[in-house]
Parts: sequence; C-alpha cells; structure tokens
Amino acid sequence: MRGMLVERLGAPDVMELRELPVPEPGPGHVRVKVEAVGINFADALAVAGEYLTRTRVPYTPGMEFAGTVDAVGEGVSGVQPGTRVACLGGTGALAEYAVVPAAGIIPVPQSLSAAQAAAFPVSYFTAYHALNTLGQAKAGQWVLVQAAAGALGTASIQLAKAMGLQVVAMASTDEKLELARGLGADVTLLQDDPERVQKVKAATGGAGAALVLEVVGGARFQESLSMTATRGRVIVIGNASRETALLHPAELMKRNLTVTGLWLTSMMSDLVATREAAQELTRLVASGQVTPQVGPTYALADSARAFQDLLDRKTTGKVIIEP
Ligand code: NDP
Repeated sequence: MRGMLVERLGAPDVMELRELPVPEPGPGHVRVKVEAVGINFADALAVAGEYLTRTRVPYTPGMEFAGTVDAVGEGVSGVQPGTRVACLGGTGALAEYAVVPAAGIIPVPQSLSAAQAAAFPVSYFTAYHALNTLGQAKAGQWVLVQAAAGALGTASIQLAKAMGLQVVAMASTDEKLELARGLGADVTLLQDDPERVQKVKAATGGAGAALVLEVVGGARFQESLSMTATRGRVIVIGNASRETALLHPAELMKRNLTVTGLWLTSMMSDLVATREAAQELTRLVASGQVTPQVGPTYALADSARAFQDLLDRKTTGKVIIEP
C-alpha cells in the first residue's frame, strides 16, 4: 500500500511517499481502509519533534481519520467489516490502510461524509472539554476563541453558540473573521488589532470574557489573562507560537483567575467525560446544530504541502488528506 513515512524529524518535507506493508490488526485492534485523514497542528509538531510526547521514527503520521472497517483482530466484538467509522489513534493514518485499537473508534453520525467524519473527533471533543468539562461555561457568558477560523476554532464557535454562549472570535485575516461570523460569532476582531484588549473589554460590557480558549501562547498568553473577567477561566489548549509564556502569579490572585491546561489525549482516559461528550456531540451533529468544517483537501502525495500550509496559517477548517 502507499503511505507516508518519516525517518527523521524536521520540517514537513521530511515525509516521503513510500510503498509500505499493509498492517495486520493484532488482538483488540481493527484495520480500516482509510478514506479521509484529518490533519491537526499536533501532527505537524510531532513530525518536527516538538509535540508533548516524544516522536519515535520511523513512523507514519496521522492520528484521526475516517474509513471502512476492513479486518478485525482477535477479541474485538461489536465491529463488523464494512462498517463506516471515524477513528482516533496514535499514528499511522496517512496510508491506504491503518490499524487502531477498537477503543479508538469514535461514534459518528452516519449522516457525515468521510471528510466531515475525519474532521470531527479531535476538534469537537477538545472544544467540548474546553467549554464544558473544564470551562464550565454557562449560557449567556462570553467566550473568547483564538484562531477562530481553524479546525478547533470553528468547532468551538459552533459548540459555544449551541450552548447559548456569546462569542468573541479572533483570527489573523478578514476572510477568516468572515468565516467566524458565518458560524455565529457575535464579535470578531483581527488578532493584530492594536486596540484588541480594549475592544474585548468593550464587547463584554467592561468585564472581559468569562472563558478564554488560549491556543497561541507566548506573549499572547499574558494578553489572554488581561482579557479574562474576574473569576474567569483561561483554558490553555495550544501554543501555536511555540514560544514560552511568562505568568505572574499575583495577576491570578488579584482577580481570582483560573488557568487550566487541556490535552485531549489525557481527557480521553476519563471515560465518563468522554461518554458525555460523545452523546452530546452526536446529538448536536445529528440535529444539524454543529457541522464539521472541512477545509482544503490534498492528495496523499501532497501531505508535506498540507502540513506546511497549516503551519503557515493558510488554511481554514480541518485540513483533509485523501489517500
Ligand atoms: P488550526 O486549524 O487552528 O490552525 C492553526 C491556526 O493557529 C492558524 O491557522 C492560525 O490562525 C493560528 N496561529 C496563531 N499563531 C500562530 C503561529 N505563530 N503559527 C501558526 N499558527 C498560528 O489548527 P488546530 O485546530 O489543529 O489547532 C489549533 C490549536 O489548538 C493548536 O495550537 C493546537 O496545538 C491546539 N490543539 C490542542 C489540542 C489539545 O488536546 N490540547 C487539541 C486540538 C488542538 P490565525 O491565522 O487566525 O491566527
């Protein structure tokens, strides 16, 4: 089968299209014929060796995908060959076939296309935990969404609106803000607007946002704190700037702020929270209140370009690769 292989870490163009053996599903695993792969910022960081976990080479990138079950390993029950599935696994999806633990199969409404299903697990489960499980946002409150036109950003806006929240969306271009408005963002601001802090305050009645979904990091982290309302929460989800941030503890004390980290991989081990998220997200997708935003779609051979476009902030929605 054709698949992408990384033999040394670095920029996206270290990935090479190769002829690879079709993987066999071991006990507790299923093999899926891959139809669409969702590309995350984390995939690009992993190839660069800059992710939260160590990247071991050689490997085939790709953690979330959709396709059809092709073969089932020993001890797997309730999953039949031919079933359409979305999956969240560690690696290996950028290929014609991928093997995942049966536990990595994510329930996804059958109404979704393969690309929509591949755009669903990481962004929507992360947005759910940011807004609900950890953010504890209540209807009527303001949430600030950074990188609002991206995969996580578009998921967060839709979910926030479905929860009755008010959304301030930030992004780097007017086209991206237009997309955010189309998804229901109440106020949109350019990320480099020199008056952005004052404008967030003004939009939120002088208070600041009750919840900030922080994905940029670096100097922006300090700014996120100043845009947060007293007793508000900052959920640290990403660090796209790849810069270190300074945190002065006194600022948290003075305004009773809460800063919470979120890593989906850790959250998935909370089976109760995961089940709650799956039920609610499935309901919202089935009722049409949220729709995974499929972004640019690339062929497998163009995987490096897809990763580079994501890093270069050229994409909106979820970047998809079709083997
Ligand atoms: P996106 O589709 O949102 O693409 C990344 C976006 O980040 C860009 O389009 C850009 O939007 C914005 N950005 C801001 N600063 C930079 C920068 N210096 N370099 C590059 N991009 C920048 O990607 P994802 O939805 O995959 O991820 C969004 C963020 O959320 C990432 O930081 C990612 O690591 C994090 N994440 C974390 C998860 C977790 O479990 N903790 C799960 C999912 C995502 P703009 O041009 O508008 O600024």
